[in-house]
Amino acid sequence: MLHLYDTYTRSLRAFTSLVPNQVRLYSCGPTVYDYQHIGNMRTYLMCDGLKRVLKLNAYEVQHVMNITDVGHLVGDGDEGEDKMEKGSRRTGQSAWNIAALYTDIFLQDVKALNIGMPTVLCKATDHIKEQIEFVQDIERKGFTYRTSDGIYFDTSKQANYGYLGRLDKDGLQAGSRVDIGEKRNATDYALWKFSKPEEKRQMEWPSPWGIGFPGWHIECSAMAQHFLGDYFDIHTGGEDHITVHHTNEISQTEARLSPETNNTRLANFWVHGYFLLLNNAKLSKSNNDGFLRVQLLIDKAYDPLAYRYLCMTAHYRGQLSFTWEALEAAQTALNRIRKQYFDAKIANPKPTSSSTELESLATPKGAQEFQDEFLRCLNDDLNFPKALAVFHKAWSSDLSPTEKLLFSDYADQALGLNLSNWRPAEVVVPPEIQQLAQSRWEAKTAKDWARADAIREQLNKLGWQMKDAATDFELKPL
Ligand code: AMP
Ligand code: ZN
Repeated sequence: MLHLYDTYTRSLRAFTSLVPNQVRLYSCGPTVYDYQHIGNMRTYLMCDGLKRVLKLNAYEVQHVMNITDVGHLVGDGDEGEDKMEKGSRRTGQSAWNIAALYTDIFLQDVKALNIGMPTVLCKATDHIKEQIEFVQDIERKGFTYRTSDGIYFDTSKQANYGYLGRLDKDGLQAGSRVDIGEKRNATDYALWKFSKPEEKRQMEWPSPWGIGFPGWHIECSAMAQHFLGDYFDIHTGGEDHITVHHTNEISQTEARLSPETNNTRLANFWVHGYFLLLNNAKLSKSNNDGFLRVQLLIDKAYDPLAYRYLCMTAHYRGQLSFTWEALEAAQTALNRIRKQYFDAKIANPKPTSSSTELESLATPKGAQEFQDEFLRCLNDDLNFPKALAVFHKAWSSDLSPTEKLLFSDYADQALGLNLSNWRPAEVVVPPEIQQLAQSRWEAKTAKDWARADAIREQLNKLGWQMKDAATDFELKPL
């Protein structure tokens, strides 16, 4: 049975869906003011791994992911410029254009990493109406107040506020008395911000409180509830969201739904992916290597799936330090398993992949045992590193090649390495190399060993290896 670590209860819990066989899942998506770095992509890979494991456990998954195209302020709180407006100034393009541009690039990265698309990908700017209605409901229930720059949530009115982040409300309040401005409490957060008269915003909407734009947290609560209902199975995001963004998503949802009982918490499970680090520090959008994003890996001749492999070598609930050496090792491991799979398939061109076939094999037990062990690892809080170890163990075991292929097809549903579609790159031999090899072959046939050896050496220097068979030869790049 699947067990997942739930940040809300800080415990490993057995997972069962609220509706039989169906999982409703919400993930915080990208803020599309810039490229997503490979750290961001680690969190989406974690979520993709979760979806794949749910599917292996025969669940149908309804997955909603948002695109944050308004309201996420530079400081991640209630201060600073909107990241979209800032991105617009940086690029000289409209905020709407950069939202479309970076959403497209994000989707290309998703595809390159073989991350499955969500069932619904929703933009915050397409759901302003739902967000306004949400704030109106909270207002009616008496949780809001107005300052000169917006409508705020009064967290002191919620006894349970901050439980997800285990926040020390009093400590936070005491520590920030000077710089909370007009806010009543340090943890209060914006639900709706007013456009400043001196700042010409590109993204703004009329509302019952004045022209402005929604707070970042309300968009996720509103869209999650709109698409998945009041209480759904799993909510995911990166670890940085625990103390503020997700805490506030829960806070406003509970205020809207049941202020008396404070017991909806929006999702039954809160699952958080830990950060990718660079040199043991937070990954920023640009560093010495340039912008550490999927395209940079491709430019340096890495396969994006090598990065996917690298992420699977660490448990999602631990931080992972990125190094080029680690990526190189992941690429080597990926190349090896691709080749193993391909060679076995060439030698055994039988259909693979259904468990009925697996059962009908003469000795299916071994493969079935690996399959069970593999799933046991994944069901133990998505332990991909252990599952990968089982994968390698199966390939070095004495299973028949057909069984190895069947097991691998099963395993790849979770690993997502696309093994069955991989082909070695076709080797194109330049005509001058072909000609040299031909003259060496002729020298050898004429028993002119000195000339044959000299040409072999020349070929090696040019990066080619010549292998002789009885009646023919083969050329391979060195
Ligand atoms: P953003 O585009 O800033 O809204 O972030 C998109 C997602 O990436 C969120 O779920 C973040 O929690 C997550 N995230 C941000 N930085 C990292 C990182 N270094 N490693 C893993 N996930 C991250
Ligand atoms: Zn969110």
